[in-house]
Amino acid sequence: MSMACPLQVAVRIRPPQPHDGKLGNVVSVQALDGVTLQVNEGDCRALVYDRVFGPEATQHEVYSACASDLVDAVIEGTNACIFAFGSTGAGKTHSMLGPEGGRRKATQDGILPRAAAELFRRIARVESEAKAAIGAGGFSAYEVKVSFLEVYCENAFDLLSGPVSASRDPSGACPLREASDGRVYAGGAKEEKIKSCEQLLDVVAAGARARATAATGVHAHSSRSHALLVISLEHRWRDVGETDPTKYNTQVSRLTLVDLAGAESMERAHGGAVDAAGVGTNMGLLVLGRVIRALAEGSERVPYRDSSLTRLMQSSLGGKAKTQMLACVSPSLREADVTLQTLKYASSARSVVLKPEAAMVASAFETDPMLMDVEDEDPTLNRR
Ligand code: ADP
Ligand code: MG
Repeated sequence: MSMACPLQVAVRIRPPQPHDGKLGNVVSVQALDGVTLQVNEGDCRALVYDRVFGPEATQHEVYSACASDLVDAVIEGTNACIFAFGSTGAGKTHSMLGPEGGRRKATQDGILPRAAAELFRRIARVESEAKAAIGAGGFSAYEVKVSFLEVYCENAFDLLSGPVSASRDPSGACPLREASDGRVYAGGAKEEKIKSCEQLLDVVAAGARARATAATGVHAHSSRSHALLVISLEHRWRDVGETDPTKYNTQVSRLTLVDLAGAESMERAHGGAVDAAGVGTNMGLLVLGRVIRALAEGSERVPYRDSSLTRLMQSSLGGKAKTQMLACVSPSLREADVTLQTLKYASSARSVVLKPEAAMVASAFETDPMLMDVEDEDPTLNRR
């Protein structure tokens, strides 16, 4: 039985930055307590979310409150998703990854490096505990894979197959396909096998470099496209007491981390004059808004299929996944309009009810299960 669970919505107000200019210290929004914030306009409205983080919140606090539960869920076989929403410069990438560029302090690590470290710590623990059961016929092993996509103008580009063309030529995009379980994925996109947290972060860094080829520069580009990182975990195990020694169980669960395009691009859509890139980006965010509204209202028809972004996120939004939204806002009065828009979007997401449920467990058979961790490409490879 799955338990109904609302989509969790957190808001993070970043500290003022030098580029906020003179209005940087004039705040349009402030945290009142851990769940309430105040919008300093007109009647000074107070808004309530599942969590509110003020400018002093640490990366550790944000991870603990928003993402550590998701890692638990994925280890236990349930899909989980966290997506960062907000205007360009509001702190999405800082929250998801950490400060951009160069080597940095671990205390500044964002959600992804922390989740990756925790995932591998948990895997090591489960596998070492399972060692004791090997003699009795049991075992437990995980295989981690990662894929990293950019959705730009409705096209999905694989960031793990080398640099993406600066023009984002649609001929280089991956077609979206549907798996037998209904999950939508980017056909032909690389799924890299990962053995350690360090390797995962290296692969993500290489993907981020492959993304940074747009002529307009990384920041301008990332503000118009969505980045989706999917960490998939295949768990294979046999319980002690299983009477058929060739039989074992498999279960695949996924942790999806999404750094969405800048929310101000929805504003551009209303304002008219948009370039090709703006249109594509708007599509994803606009449809995501409609999907959230439809789910919140319990509509029969949820328009997932209207954009590539929502197709790729479908199983995280309406399905059996545990999902967290992290809405990032700037405190600056200069950004007051887009901040209010972000807060409204975030409020509507609070009514979405999900039913997180563990992924299906399948049975498989193997002559020698201890050899299962061989490369898929070469089933005859004997690593013993
Ligand atoms: P976005 O990805 O939403 O466009 P960024 O994450 O790049 O925004 O943040 C914009 C700038 O603000 C960056 O220089 C970033 O390091 C800084 N920043 C954002 N959030 C924080 C924070 N919580 N603490 C310190 N600096 C932050
Ligand atoms: Mg960013």
